[in-house]
Amino acid sequence: MPGMPFGKPAGERCLHLDLNQACRLFGLPERPPVCQSLQPQAAMCGDSASDALVWLRQLEVQTRP
Ligand code: SF4
Repeated sequence: MPGMPFGKPAGERCLHLDLNQACRLFGLPERPPVCQSLQPQAAMCGDSASDALVWLRQLEVQTRP
């Protein structure tokens, strides 16, 4: 991950996310493979940004090392 050599820590905002919640690396080869391969699904987005953050926090807890 450019600028984040150890990856994006759970609970931290990615430094590539702009103020409109868009990825600045979108379409660039530097975008990490895990980000490129993610297929958005209705369950992860919910009906709002706060729904999506709840889902993301649950995923981070479930995948904690
Ligand atoms: S898609 Fe990946 S690189 Fe882009 S903002 Fe999200 S976590 Fe960061």
